[in-house]
Amino acid sequence: MLSTMQDVPLLVSRILTHGSTVHGRARVTTWTADAGPRRRTFAEIGARAAQLAHALRDELGVAPDDRVATLMWNNAEHVEAYFAIPCMGSVLHTLNLRLPPEQLTWIVNHAADRVILVNGTLLPLLAPLLPRLESVEHLVVVGPGDTSVLDGCRATVHEYESLIADRPQRYEWPELDERQAAAMCYTSGTTGEPKGVVYSHRSIYLHSMQVNMAESFSLTDRDTTLPIVPMFHVNAWGIPHAAFMTGINMLMTDRFLQPAAIAEMIEAERPTHAAAVPTIWQGLLAELAERPRDVSSVRQVIIGGSACPPSLMRDFQERHGIEVCHAWGMTETSPLGTTSHPPAGATGEEAWTYRFTQGRFPASVAARLIGPSGEVMPWDGTSTGELEVRGPWIAGAYFGGAGAEPLAPEDKFHDGWLRTGDVGAISPDGYLTLTDRAKDVIKSGGEWISSVELENHLMAHPDVAEAAVVAVPDAKWGERPLATVVLKEGAVADYATLRVFLTERVARWQVPERWTIVSAVPKTSVGKFDKKVIRRQYADGKLDVTVF
Ligand code: AMP
Repeated sequence: MLSTMQDVPLLVSRILTHGSTVHGRARVTTWTADAGPRRRTFAEIGARAAQLAHALRDELGVAPDDRVATLMWNNAEHVEAYFAIPCMGSVLHTLNLRLPPEQLTWIVNHAADRVILVNGTLLPLLAPLLPRLESVEHLVVVGPGDTSVLDGCRATVHEYESLIADRPQRYEWPELDERQAAAMCYTSGTTGEPKGVVYSHRSIYLHSMQVNMAESFSLTDRDTTLPIVPMFHVNAWGIPHAAFMTGINMLMTDRFLQPAAIAEMIEAERPTHAAAVPTIWQGLLAELAERPRDVSSVRQVIIGGSACPPSLMRDFQERHGIEVCHAWGMTETSPLGTTSHPPAGATGEEAWTYRFTQGRFPASVAARLIGPSGEVMPWDGTSTGELEVRGPWIAGAYFGGAGAEPLAPEDKFHDGWLRTGDVGAISPDGYLTLTDRAKDVIKSGGEWISSVELENHLMAHPDVAEAAVVAVPDAKWGERPLATVVLKEGAVADYATLRVFLTERVARWQVPERWTIVSAVPKTSVGKFDKKVIRRQYADGKLDVTVF
């Protein structure tokens, strides 16, 4: 028998309507170079999102399902686009401004974006691509910038503020099917072509509720969050949507992502919460050590996107009294997978061992580990396998092509589960510990060495700023680890010291023989260690490697 409950679709427009009325006084504050922070209330954002939707529909002819892209920093106008585009029934496509030009061009063409909203400061990046962007009919320039670089471009150029001015501040948001596409994001594409993940209204709605749950980010209208994670990286981890759902104030970095600027905005605006990848937090810690600032307003930081070294978590807690929550997720998982809050009753060192894991799964994300011969592995904390997940905000397919329906499930999706490509173990109480990406694990003489474990130990050495370990071919063992290390300024440690340090912490046979000191570890477009680049540099003989 069916229930007697109302069947109300879960739509992004409900989040917007709620946020801009019930939480109308909550604020989005955008950092600027020297004009002082720009402040806009959720009520104003709601009105301006309606104006943008009118402009897109009435002036630019944007239709349901049309893709409208953004090439923007984290700022108030980007939040307006985040809501206007899906709420009117079109699809928001956030473009990663750090991708190489060929990939960006490929992605825009693949998604068949009709319109691009672009921050004026990013025009020099976009202009050279325009002749090859086949589907783009309109460019909307947001904020100041040199528009002369657009001379001769095929697309019609508009200025954001004039485009939305004098339009109605209300919009009859259509009643959509909750399974309809709301937003899309391409994976950073470390192998092969980038792949488009298409989020639905329903997945965004449910994911936002999870973000706000106490077991996840636990945010309320008393908080101000600083999403340093870019809005083009998996919807800024769902924070803007979650913010409108519960009235969380947002502090937006715009293009000011240097550690000094972040420290300055924290001191001035006193956020209670922030989210970013580990490399950002490493940078901030170093900045604070050199130039102390008052960051005491921050209660919790979320660190995810790649493995967070335990030493980094301890430093935040011990030097600044800030609790660190480690989180795991991916573009395909919206991204919230796990968060590392210790269970009730765990204190002291026991609590730390939980914090160092990737964390626990929420009820809506089912997980299993698949062993080398396809068998499901037990949750015993030691058996490892490839992590597979399933749930209402987990992708079931990739976007198939210009205007096409999603592809039939391929290799990455089997049997209703998403293969994550991450390898690890799950404890009996459901805490995930990742040991590697399947493609980064080091297979040495039939045994696996975790690159992440070696990196975590190295980064705990007081002289080491960053360390990345990759597998390199070895005649005897098949593969062996190569350690690339960035030393802190004034550091005295040499290879011998670091080798001894590792020997005291891991099995002898796991200690790398190949070492190189570099000035920086190469990073991907979203700030993760780019191990592909290190492997290539090694293969091309571009690294100065010492072998023991
Ligand atoms: P992306 O889709 O670009 O966000 O990349 C997702 C991938 O980042 C995951 O499949 C993991 O390999 C990695 N990742 C994300 N969060 C973590 C974490 N907390 N620890 C280790 N790896 C992570």
